[in-house]
Amino acid sequence: MKQVKFIDLGNDCDFIVKGSVDEVMIQVADHANGVHNMTITDDVVAAVKGVMTDV
Ligand SMILES: [Zn+2]
Repeated sequence: MKQVKFIDLGNDCDFIVKGSVDEVMIQVADHANGVHNMTITDDVVAAVKGVMTDV
């Protein structure tokens, strides 16, 4: 299982996503866009993958 912490993406946010890579990417995109008003660009996807860890 993978994990992404939003604080690792530079957001002042304690949201943590866990799941498969696909699940994590979907939840991160939903939260980033819906809560932080971020656009999911290729750079954002790369950053998310960069902070993704195995749990
Ligand atoms: Zn957040």
